[in-house]
Amino acid sequence: MSVEATRREEICRLGASIFARGLTAGSSGNISVRVADGWLMTPTNASLGRLDPARLSKLDDDGKLVSGDAPTKESFLHRVMYEERSKTGAVIHLHSTHSVAISCLADIDPADVLPPITAYYVMRVGRLPLVPYYRPGDLALAEAVRGFAGKHHAVLLANHGPVVAGTSLDAAANAIEELEETAKLFLLLRGSKTRYLMQEQVAELRTASR
Ligand SMILES: [Zn+2]
Repeated sequence: MSVEATRREEICRLGASIFARGLTAGSSGNISVRVADGWLMTPTNASLGRLDPARLSKLDDDGKLVSGDAPTKESFLHRVMYEERSKTGAVIHLHSTHSVAISCLADIDPADVLPPITAYYVMRVGRLPLVPYYRPGDLALAEAVRGFAGKHHAVLLANHGPVVAGTSLDAAANAIEELEETAKLFLLLRGSKTRYLMQEQVAELRTASR
């Protein structure tokens, strides 16, 4: 099987798994992967639960559709991540419930949305900025994401959901799933006196994972 055919299978397998676990619903959520001569991306209005490898959108290096269905209308969120982060191999965007819930809270720190609850959150997600709200499809949203993408591989769109870049599809999936689980933990712990990781513990993790 060619590398591209393998990537197509991987995107569909991951999409089905994300959908089956309720990490995104309806036709929300989109996945892209860098390939030798462009990108593979999930199509517009496609449910991640029912992707067809042959119908994934294939874009060339300029972002032009060369085969498959039209790409997700949120493809620009993916593009800015690839443009600003040269080592990006895959990008995932979800409307995962707990992360979206966090993105709607009035009292969060927009510079770093979630506290350091666990070591894996610090290592896989790191500091998570909140991107101000824009209407879906508004290109100003892409520019707002661009402003953070140089320094952050994970961002949270206000009242919308997370966008996470990784060096590989596995890395992006692990990070966005860690983010969703941490959002869930944060909501479970709300109202309880909580011991977060201390500053020096966070610093130690950041140095080690560099
Ligand atoms: Zn979205």
